[in-house]
Amino acid sequence: MTAAKYNTREHKNQRRHWARIIAKGEGYCAEPICLMEERWIEPGTPWHVCHDPTGTHYIGPGHQRCNVSERNNRINERKTKSSRSW
Ligand SMILES: [Zn+2]
Repeated sequence: MTAAKYNTREHKNQRRHWARIIAKGEGYCAEPICLMEERWIEPGTPWHVCHDPTGTHYIGPGHQRCNVSERNNRINERKTKSSRSW
């Protein structure tokens, strides 16, 4: 599943930018809902570049766990909407 609106070059730049910050131990989870005990992203742990709910703006890095859960919520929402129109 690939969304055409994602600019992959921009994504790579974002990833490189935040990777440097996280490696220094200065990265914090940008997800509105953080599932971890603290927002600090420990260097070497899995993380993602997060988007706002529209998927058009990068909001910063996030723990892998928080990012995956946010994406699942979005998928569930879409499912509910499509079943309603049916
Ligand atoms: Zn988090």
